[in-house]
Amino acid sequence: MYDVIIIGAGVSGAAAARELSRYKGRICVLEKEEDVCCGTSKANSAIVHAGYDAPEGSLMAKLNVEGNRMMAELSRELDFPFRPCGSFVVCLDREMLPDLQALYERGVRNGVPGLEIITDKERIREMEPNLSDQTEAVLYAPTAGIVCPFLLNIAMAENACTNGVEFRFNTTVTGFTRTEEGWLVHTNKGDVETRTVVNAAGVYADELHNMVCEEKIHITPRRGDYCLLDKSAGAHVNRTIFALPGKYGKGVLVSPTVHGNLIVGPTAIDIGDKEATATTREGLDQVIQKAGMNVKDLPMRQVITSFAGLRAHEDGHEFIIRELPGAPGFVDCAGIESPGLTSSPAIGKMVAEIVEGILHLPENPDFNGVRKGILDPDTLSKEERAALIKENPAYGNIICRCEMVTEGEILDAIHRPLGARSLDGVKRRTRAGMGRCQAGFCTPRTMELLHRELGIPMTEITKSGGESRLLVGTSKDTLGKEDA
Ligand SMILES: Cc1cc2nc3c(=O)[nH]c(=O)nc-3n(C[C@H](O)[C@H](O)[C@H](O)COP(=O)(O)OP(=O)(O)OC[C@H]3O[C@@H](n4cnc5c(N)ncnc54)[C@H](O)[C@@H]3O)c2cc1C
Repeated sequence: MYDVIIIGAGVSGAAAARELSRYKGRICVLEKEEDVCCGTSKANSAIVHAGYDAPEGSLMAKLNVEGNRMMAELSRELDFPFRPCGSFVVCLDREMLPDLQALYERGVRNGVPGLEIITDKERIREMEPNLSDQTEAVLYAPTAGIVCPFLLNIAMAENACTNGVEFRFNTTVTGFTRTEEGWLVHTNKGDVETRTVVNAAGVYADELHNMVCEEKIHITPRRGDYCLLDKSAGAHVNRTIFALPGKYGKGVLVSPTVHGNLIVGPTAIDIGDKEATATTREGLDQVIQKAGMNVKDLPMRQVITSFAGLRAHEDGHEFIIRELPGAPGFVDCAGIESPGLTSSPAIGKMVAEIVEGILHLPENPDFNGVRKGILDPDTLSKEERAALIKENPAYGNIICRCEMVTEGEILDAIHRPLGARSLDGVKRRTRAGMGRCQAGFCTPRTMELLHRELGIPMTEITKSGGESRLLVGTSKDTLGKEDA
């Protein structure tokens, strides 16, 4: 019998797990994929929004501003990259200045500190030399930032794990039965009994909600396509550049990433399939067409990859975080679309407060909120690096040449709590395969490390779990069959 079953190991589920690990209880996260951070949390803009966008008085606005406020300290505690670089909303047309002003005023009412409308064109140019020459004014939000979404998610989950939370992967929740003490959770791997359930299932949260609650909800997967540009383009802008929605359409953002790339996107295309994360020609064309609206001379020839993520857009466009009526002990964490990443620390806290209000668990005296990330030898001095390599030669063996990731980092990624089991798992933790050649060079070498360290046959190593095996046999076998 568990005290809490959390469904989903994205940022919402991981944040809830970490906050709940402050209490003494049996807590388990069930995740249908092979790793944490396999849903929307791995494919988004990675912006820590300031909080002027969300409707005034909404839970979204409250948790956005609170999550933004918590992010710097959390990044220090959990050792993940976060940069408070600030953001601009660009107004290209004097007629639209009232819209910019309205955004500013909403931000002030939402409690966003430091907002400023800048009309001094010289100052704007100094801050962002590559902004469109048509720029009339910008809304400057100094508290906005950028984060590594993978490492935020992984760090919260790892820390929850070291504080006693169990994680079960490849485990899909298929239904629920109400019991005297709580819930029987049905999964593809058998039933699990629990006193409470947290539904943090992303785009699937409506389906789980509707299994236990009379008041139905409906989530539309809203696809966002992106282009990611090489690090040579990373300094094209200094902060996140948003378009002011208006007569030129909604526009796309242009932003540096914490790892030094440039990201351009997303689109917003409603689709039916909750697994359809492939980019489309139509989507990428939209991104390319809108990319230069606010930022000039964008080096779009430097695109190294494209990807898409699905927003969990609930019809009411609001976060739904509450114990469900008629389903005691079943807590929703649904409709977590943007700014869900920003809000995740605050979402975790809110979910934990609701669950704690039901269970009254004692505090966990052994809780340790500090986690150390994977050591990046690039952060060391030459002497320190030499000493590290002497002590552990794996840090002298470069596996990913584009991102300069060493064998030592990959071994750490495999052997730490909730360690990587697939190529993508290694990639999200270390960046091996995220560079210019997009894993062309390091794939076989990373596969060899997974094979050697985990004792998995080469033919069973996957890109991202499930059936995504990379090798199907030896070329001699294939040739033999063709001859026959
Ligand atoms: C295009 C785009 C841009 C965005 N940009 C930003 C941004 O810049 N800033 C920001 O703050 N937010 C942004 N967001 C929003 C943010 O990414 C999401 O709000 C956040 O990642 C949602 O996290 P989650 O944990 O709720 O969902 P997910 O990350 O999707 O996690 C849900 C998990 O539940 C699992 N699951 C589902 N069903 C089951 C089941 N039956 N059994 C077991 N497991 C199950 C899934 O596999 C998944 O791992 C963006 C989103 C998109 C799509």
